[in-house]
Amino acid sequence: MVSRRTALWLALGALAAAPAARAQSPGVPRRAEGDGTPAQFLPRNAPDPQPQVDDLAKFPKCPYCGMDRRQFHHSRMLIQYSNDVPDGVCSLHCAAISLSLNIDAEPKAIWVADNAVAGEPKPLVDVDRASFVVGGSTPGVMTARSKVAFGSAEAARSAQAVQGGTIADFDGALLAAYTDMSADVARIRKNRAARRARMGAAGAQ
Ligand SMILES: [Zn+2]
Repeated sequence: MVSRRTALWLALGALAAAPAARAQSPGVPRRAEGDGTPAQFLPRNAPDPQPQVDDLAKFPKCPYCGMDRRQFHHSRMLIQYSNDVPDGVCSLHCAAISLSLNIDAEPKAIWVADNAVAGEPKPLVDVDRASFVVGGSTPGVMTARSKVAFGSAEAARSAQAVQGGTIADFDGALLAAYTDMSADVARIRKNRAARRARMGAAGAQ
């Protein structure tokens, strides 16, 4: 059976093969190449049955914000979609973006950095085994309200005793990430614009 998406690609291929059909009509805005699907709608990484092995070497940069996952090893996450396509991200914030963009792919496994383990880089733990401290005093990554993962509930409780915040499972932490998305995106956009302006000013000197 030809899926709707395959049929769409076939149709687009036929258009590409017939340049006359793409000729621009007067008054019709010029369309971008492609079908308008966001570039990240499906991660472009090759399928990897073991993405969690050497994930920092294989996925050094977060594709959504461009941050270095080696620097943010303590907040990084890794999603493996059902077609084995991996998506390595810097934070729960960017994992939430990936999950909302890639709605046609079921996540098969999701890992998060385990802050219960001393040393660097933090190892990955399955999110179903993780407890998150939400809103503790640890600075957040891509968010004003941190969501720090621990591989054991006991470690999360110890951290909470020092930092404050509340304890959540992955679903609760993900809900907090989506809840914070609006304010976080507005703040990050402002910060990035200010940084671009500073860089522009420095470049002009
Ligand atoms: Zn990111």
